[in-house]
Amino acid sequence: MLDINRKPLFNEFGDIETSKKRMINGNTTNLNDFNNMKYTWVSDWYRQGMNNFWIPEEINLAQDLKDYKRLTDDERTAYDKILSFLIFLDSIQTANLGNINNYITASEVNLCLTIQAFQEAVHSQSYSYMLDTICSPEKRNEILYQWKDDKILLERNKFIGELYNSFLESPTKENLLKTIMANYILEGIYFYSGFMFFYNLERNGKMPGSAQEIRYINRDENTHLWLFRSIIKELQLEEPEIFTDKLKNDLRDMMRIGVEHEIAWGHYVIGDNISGINKKLIEDYIKYLGNMRLTSIGLDKLYEGYDENPAEWVDRQANANSVKTDFFEAKSTAYAKAATLVDDL
Ligand code: ZN
Ligand code: ZN
Repeated sequence: MLDINRKPLFNEFGDIETSKKRMINGNTTNLNDFNNMKYTWVSDWYRQGMNNFWIPEEINLAQDLKDYKRLTDDERTAYDKILSFLIFLDSIQTANLGNINNYITASEVNLCLTIQAFQEAVHSQSYSYMLDTICSPEKRNEILYQWKDDKILLERNKFIGELYNSFLESPTKENLLKTIMANYILEGIYFYSGFMFFYNLERNGKMPGSAQEIRYINRDENTHLWLFRSIIKELQLEEPEIFTDKLKNDLRDMMRIGVEHEIAWGHYVIGDNISGINKKLIEDYIKYLGNMRLTSIGLDKLYEGYDENPAEWVDRQANANSVKTDFFEAKSTAYAKAATLVDDL
């Protein structure tokens, strides 16, 4: 028995009153009416999303080509495995956002999700550009498909992939919320030990172009977190009956599993053999992020004593263009246009 309807497409008798608009199960016409938005945060989000436009090939990777050969074996293995994971995440995001969008009936939010899907596609292309520049075609293919053979990598991808699949197979309100939560965890936790690794390499004077690609990806991911947090908060208002204690516990458990997976992954790929990061820092940072992600959607934190960012340098590296990357503050402030993007190098 399904309690959520797939969005109608051409719908002559859809509602035109803004007040009747709903996040799910609304009677949408699909008309993009920019002057009549129910969800007012969308205008800021849209502006930010458009201004964040960037082109991966405009970042120069000449230094990275030299540096890659000089990485320690541990650094190179971590670089390859982390890229393999990130490529998978951004690819499945590109493919899955349309599935979520099929059930969201607020046209302005459909618009945001479409921009997000475009950005995820650019992210996967940026990794291809990195691999094409840095390694041989054979090596590139090996990295692209490492997740099929590396047991730990495959396990990670399965957790997210199966959550996304279960919504596809059984589209209920509860499964939608779990898919949205999986998205939020992916955007807010899974990318982060990878981002940390790239920023740390840059801090150690290595792979500056890769770090710059990651910085632009990171900036986009922050707006995606902002979008998903907003969708969750609107659903809390419009569909309070879904948020039972059981569901809230399930969502926190999902976050706990996500945090544990990310820490185990960070320990496996980075470990204690890379200068500047270690297992303890990874664990402290990911638990801190897990707490912050939960409290920002009104759920209780999981870990006592993890309220301070133990790796502030990550935020500094992420902020190198004076671009605000904290989605709590994400307002129309500093935008990097294509020209400044080149000038930054
Ligand atoms: Zn992405
Ligand atoms: Zn994203």
